[in-house]
Amino acid sequence: MLAAPDLTPTPTPTSIPTAASISTSPRRSDTVLPCWTTDPDLWFAESPQSVEDAKALCVPCPLREACLAGALDRREPWGVWGGQLVVHGVVVPRKRPRGRPRKVDLAA
Ligand code: SF4
Repeated sequence: MLAAPDLTPTPTPTSIPTAASISTSPRRSDTVLPCWTTDPDLWFAESPQSVEDAKALCVPCPLREACLAGALDRREPWGVWGGQLVVHGVVVPRKRPRGRPRKVDLAA
């Protein structure tokens, strides 16, 4: 005689949100995203080093691609989204420090 098949449903993970859930629901207690567990001002920092720190914190985020796509779609004016610095709706490689540009090129 054959054993009855195990019909127990496989549990689905609840800790990885979808792009839809993040855009339609407030923060969920079972969701852990780097920008939710770190000072959010870091993602809108003035210091170029802080911007790079925020970009690095985004690297393991499961929503990185959707986050960046959403920011580009919305033409976000400023901030780190999906591990990239977005300024006026476009990705820029890095934040320039404050101050005037140098008058002379230092490369020799
Ligand atoms: S990729 Fe987006 S959702 Fe993920 S930590 Fe960075 S800013 Fe937050």
